[in-house]
Amino acid sequence: MNRYGIAIDIGTSGLRCQALDLETGKAVSTAITTRHPIPGMNVIDHVNHSIESGADSGNRLMIDAFNRLLPLLDIDLGKVESIAVCGNPFQLSLFQNIEIRDLAYAGKSMLERIGVKPVKRDGAIVAAKDLGLIGLDGAHVIIPPAVSHEIGADALAMLLVTGAMDEDKPCLVIDYGTNAEMALIVDGEVFTGSAAAGPALEGQQIEKGMLAAPGCISDLDVVKDGWRNTVLDDGFTPCQCDLVDPSDGRVIESGMMHGRAKGITGTGVIAAISCGIDTGLMAVPNIATPDGKAHLQEGIWLKPKDIEEAGKAIGAIRAGYLTLMREAGLWVEDVTKSYMSGAAGLYVDAHKAQNIGLVAPGSEEIVQFGNTSLVLARQLVTGTRSLDELRDFANRLRAKHCMFATSDIFKDLYSVELSLWSYGMPASAYNDMLDIYKIPHIPMRPVESKVRKMVIRDLPDVDQHDVVILDDPGVTLCGEMPDCIMCGKCTEICPEDAITVDDSTGTPVAKVNSGRCAGTACKRCEFNCPVKTIHIRDLRVC
Ligand code: SF4
Ligand code: SF4
Repeated sequence: MNRYGIAIDIGTSGLRCQALDLETGKAVSTAITTRHPIPGMNVIDHVNHSIESGADSGNRLMIDAFNRLLPLLDIDLGKVESIAVCGNPFQLSLFQNIEIRDLAYAGKSMLERIGVKPVKRDGAIVAAKDLGLIGLDGAHVIIPPAVSHEIGADALAMLLVTGAMDEDKPCLVIDYGTNAEMALIVDGEVFTGSAAAGPALEGQQIEKGMLAAPGCISDLDVVKDGWRNTVLDDGFTPCQCDLVDPSDGRVIESGMMHGRAKGITGTGVIAAISCGIDTGLMAVPNIATPDGKAHLQEGIWLKPKDIEEAGKAIGAIRAGYLTLMREAGLWVEDVTKSYMSGAAGLYVDAHKAQNIGLVAPGSEEIVQFGNTSLVLARQLVTGTRSLDELRDFANRLRAKHCMFATSDIFKDLYSVELSLWSYGMPASAYNDMLDIYKIPHIPMRPVESKVRKMVIRDLPDVDQHDVVILDDPGVTLCGEMPDCIMCGKCTEICPEDAITVDDSTGTPVAKVNSGRCAGTACKRCEFNCPVKTIHIRDLRVC
C-alpha cells in the first residue's frame, strides 16, 4: 500500500506542494500557485491585511487555498501520513492561525498596551484536521521552529540545505525574492538581514514584465550587433530566440519561437541591464536609443522607469549585504564565496547578476541552489532530518539579526546605491559618494568568478511529472456599499484587474479577488473613490 507525505513551502509569491512516496522518498506530484491567496505583494501586506480584517481572516484564505491546491496533487489524501511546512514566521503563524501581532509590532510596551503576549515559535506537530485541512484525517503536520521573529524556518533552510554553515571562510547566502533573505557566515557566527527588494526582479512593476512563465524572456546575450533573447517554451525550457537590434527592435536573425515572447521576467531584466551596461547602451537608468527604450522583441522593451524599479531592488540587496559585511567587520574583498537560492537565484545567469551587483563583487565562487524551503520540508517529511535536530540547531545558532529599517549603515549605503542605480549618478562618482559616508571603496567591476549550479530546477525532483498550477488561489471578497455612485473609478484604476462592482441586486457590492489584490501597498481603489465607500479590510468571503 502506498504511503504518502506532503512537503509544503509557503512563499511570499505563492504556495508550493509536493507529494512524496514515503517508500522511495521521491516526489510523485507537484502543485503550486503563482500568487498568494491573501491580498498584498509582500509579507508585510499579508500581515497588515490579516490584522486589519480581523482574527482569522488571513488563515482562512490560506487554508482555503490549500484545500483547493492539495487535491491537485492527485494522490489519495487519506494515505498521507506526514506533512511538513516551511516558510517565514509570518507565513507559518498565518498557516497555524496563531498570534501575528507580536511579529508585526516592535517594542514590548506597545505589545503590553494592546494586550498581546509574544508567542514561542519553537516548532510543533499538529493534526492536519485541527488546522482545517480537508481529507487528511490520518496526517500530522510538522512545523519547524524559528530562532527569532526575523530568523524563521526559511532562513534555517537556507543555511542548512546549502551547507553554508560548514564553510571555513566568510560566505554569503541570499535567497532572491520579493523579500531577499540574506546571511553572512563568519567563523560559525551568522549575521542575517532581510531586504525589501520588491517585485521588480520577479518581473512585476515592469511595464512589459511578467512572472516566469511560458513566453517570457528569461535571458539575453550580446551577440555581434544585437541582443539574442532566450524565451521559456510551454515546458518552461529556455529556447534561443530572435537576435534583435536593441536600439530599434529590428530582428537581425529569427530564432526558435520567433516573435512569441509575451513579456520579460526578472532574470531577463537582470540580463538586459547587464548587457546594457556592458555595451554602453545604458547609463542606468537612462537608455541611449533614439526613443529611449531598449527593444528586446516586437512590442517588448525596457524603459528608464523599468530600470529605476529594478534599480531599487538592486540597491536594496546590495545595501543589505554590504551592511552585513560592515556589521561583521569585513569588506567586499573578504567575502569570496556566495550562495544564491530561490527560483531567481537559480535561474538567473550568475555572472550577469554579479555584473550588476546582485552578487557580492569579491565572490570568486558562486553556488546556485533552488528552493531550499521545500527541500527542508521534504527532509522533515521523509525523516532525513528531525524536528528535534532543527530545534537543537536553532538553539545553538549564534545569530545576530540586523534590522535594515533602523540601521544607519544601511540607510547610508542605500542612498548611495539608489543614486547609482535609479537616480542617474555617473558610475565615476560612486566611490566619491562612499567617501562622504566614510565607507570604504568598492571596485566597479567584480572579480572573475566560477559558477556551480547544484540543481537544474528550483523545485526538486520534477523531471518525471508535470507541475500542476492552481491559477487562482484567491477567493472573492465582497462587501455592500450603499453609498457607491457606480462611477467606475475603482475598477479603472485597479492595476491588477482585481475589483468589480456589481449592482444587479440594487445595492452596489464590491467584489475583489483576494489573490490578485495588491492590498495595503496599493489601496488605489480606496484613495480614488469619490465617496470613500470602499474599504478592502471590510470585505468578507462571499
Ligand atoms: S486597486 Fe484596490 S482592489 Fe485593486 S489591487 Fe489595489 S487595493 Fe486591490
Ligand atoms: S470608486 Fe467608489 S463610488 Fe465609484 S464605483 Fe468604486 S466604490 Fe463606487
